[in-house]
Amino acid sequence: MAKKEEIIEAAKKTAKKVAVKAAEKALEAAEVVVDKAAKAVKEATTPVITPEMAKIPAGPLELKWTNYKNHQKLVNPANKRRLDIIVVGTGLAGASAAASLAEMGFNVLNFCIQDSPRRAHSIAAQGGINAAKNYQNDGDSVYRLYYDTIKGGDYRAREANVYRLAEVSNNIIDQCVAQGVPFAREYGGLLDNRSFGGAQVSRTFYAKGQTGQQLLLGAYSALSRQIGKGKVKMYTRYEMLDIVLIKDENGEKRARGIIARNLVTGRIERFFAHAVVVGSGGYGNTFFLSTNAMASNGSAAMQMYRHGALFANPCYAQIHPTCIPKHGDFQSKLTLMSESLRNDGRIWVPKKLEDAKRLQAGEIKGRDIPEEDRDYYLERRYPAFGNLVPRDVASRAAKERCDKGYGVNNTGLAVFLDFSDAIQRLGKDVVAQKYGNLFQMYEKIVDENPYENPMMIFPAIHYTMGGIWVDYELQTTVKGLFCIGEANFSDHGANRLGASALMQGLADGYFVLPYTIQNYLSDQIGVPRMSTDLPEFAEAEKAVQDKIDKLMAIQGKRSVDSIHKELGLIMWDFVGMGRTAEGLKEGIKKIDAIKKEFWTNVYIPGEANSLNNELEKALRLADFIEIGRLMAVDALHREESCGGHFREEYQTPEGEALRQDDKFAYVGCWKYMGEDQEPQLIKEPLDYEFTERKTRNYKN
Ligand SMILES: Cc1cc2nc3c(=O)[nH]c(=O)nc-3n(C[C@H](O)[C@H](O)[C@H](O)COP(=O)(O)OP(=O)(O)OC[C@H]3O[C@@H](n4cnc5c(N)ncnc54)[C@H](O)[C@@H]3O)c2cc1C
Repeated sequence: MAKKEEIIEAAKKTAKKVAVKAAEKALEAAEVVVDKAAKAVKEATTPVITPEMAKIPAGPLELKWTNYKNHQKLVNPANKRRLDIIVVGTGLAGASAAASLAEMGFNVLNFCIQDSPRRAHSIAAQGGINAAKNYQNDGDSVYRLYYDTIKGGDYRAREANVYRLAEVSNNIIDQCVAQGVPFAREYGGLLDNRSFGGAQVSRTFYAKGQTGQQLLLGAYSALSRQIGKGKVKMYTRYEMLDIVLIKDENGEKRARGIIARNLVTGRIERFFAHAVVVGSGGYGNTFFLSTNAMASNGSAAMQMYRHGALFANPCYAQIHPTCIPKHGDFQSKLTLMSESLRNDGRIWVPKKLEDAKRLQAGEIKGRDIPEEDRDYYLERRYPAFGNLVPRDVASRAAKERCDKGYGVNNTGLAVFLDFSDAIQRLGKDVVAQKYGNLFQMYEKIVDENPYENPMMIFPAIHYTMGGIWVDYELQTTVKGLFCIGEANFSDHGANRLGASALMQGLADGYFVLPYTIQNYLSDQIGVPRMSTDLPEFAEAEKAVQDKIDKLMAIQGKRSVDSIHKELGLIMWDFVGMGRTAEGLKEGIKKIDAIKKEFWTNVYIPGEANSLNNELEKALRLADFIEIGRLMAVDALHREESCGGHFREEYQTPEGEALRQDDKFAYVGCWKYMGEDQEPQLIKEPLDYEFTERKTRNYKN
């Protein structure tokens, strides 16, 4: 009897288990269906930016810019004198824009964080600037530069913008030569060129390894002329902390000024203008360790974003393959070894794991490995482009070798960049003439002679392709607010080709904005100068002051840098070179925790109303935390791999990036929905009219 009951009991238990399992399965299936339905609803209700909204001119690709210029509205010289423009930034984008707008007759107020416009981050640019001059007669053309850029960006850039960029590239070289920029010349006196990644022609103009410095000195001389004439009022050591919007007679908000902090006195000040142009650079320092200048930040971008400007493709960040590897926990900066070195330098790791181990243990040096035991993996995998594959491809290939254990350096996180072949072929003197300052820099940092032993390099965060969304006129979604240079979402799609950032910054500042901003300002000629006593200015200033007071009051236990370092590690581990859905979700949680830690436990010494470097850094870190999150959210939503955005779930069997053109051929723009609210996705479809999308191929 007892047995029968036991059997019944057991049967009941089994039935219950089966029923529970079945219910669980049904629930799971229902959840998948609900998830899919929610996704479909989201998809169907996601707002879309049309080509008309992006103001892309009609007509054939090669005539769009000409047509635009022929029909845009102009501002006559007398009216230009009545209009004020604020330009934030004195990098190549800001300085060229400020100088050009003043030369045209507008009154310009130009701001920068550094103590001289010449100290903007652009001065660090090393390798060169692209232009389709075809001086080498090697088959280059405007179309080819356009095509290489579109392809290099993994078909995620706007066709019309990229074509315009290629078109004006040649004007930039003429302009800079006229300014006296000392570009390298060949023996006969003609301008020299070298090659950069993603191109099979030599189209890069350069000034040793200091191209950014020389270009910036050119722009600075043009700017100085206007400062001297009183057309540019220069505000050095000022940091914009907010943008002021004022409603027009139709109730539409327009950018009418900024709130800035005098970094020397700590005073908060108000400035009016008829339009605001922001050229504040990229947000790579979100990762703490990057090749960017220490003052590079994403705060100006976040101020625009909070006022309704869309943040486009935040997850597109460039990891540069040739940087000096990290050497300790107390480092605050990484150093770039210019891509130009890949013209003559060959990248390799040992073929044998035991050699890699001996290198890591410091028992042997790179020069001790015989030729037959070296794996020139880029030449092996990508015969057509070899060492000059684009940066995203080269970085991933280095990671792949290091992940498999073939990396060198004591950490195993480095590969060799070797000039022994070039020295044999060209002689040490020629190599020194071309790259001498870079070799010297390497030796100073690593304490090893790169002429005698191959350099060690490793990928590092370097540039951000994402940024503030702008239309064809470089105007954001906020009227009267323009964004130029690296700060905008730019023309580079998901990956920027080497030597194309300087080209874009100067194109924006010298040759695009000076036209397009007039189309906006022509309607503003009747707007009088406004008083900075208006309530909108007072409110904006109060909000800035409140934020500073809140930060100063925390008086916690952690330095700004210690929290920033932690954020950087999270970014590198979860939002870095290889991303996964699981990792990104984890990363977002960790970033949220960092935000809490920052706002409760940061320690800022000193006073707010005087020079206070820690306060400056804290204000920037508050925004880096938000940007880091936005990058992760964007990376999570983009279920494909393209350019610098590599989702490990989406790769070919050979480990190459796998795009999903049917689902993600759009610019992912994010709209701010309020503090601690999830941002809203808005799409700008990239319907290619003139170019066929292909799988990127650098093999043959
Ligand atoms: C080491 C290195 C080497 C490079 N080499 C090359 C190269 O060879 N070729 C190439 O094409 N590209 C290169 N790049 C990329 C290129 O240098 C940058 O993309 C470009 O210089 C950015 O110029 P920008 O004018 O947009 O911004 P930046 O030069 O970064 O200037 C930003 C300006 O904005 C100001 N600013 C920022 N925030 C505020 C604020 N809140 N208030 C007031 N002012 C503010 C800053 O003071 C500064 O004046 C390199 C980058 C690095 C890091």
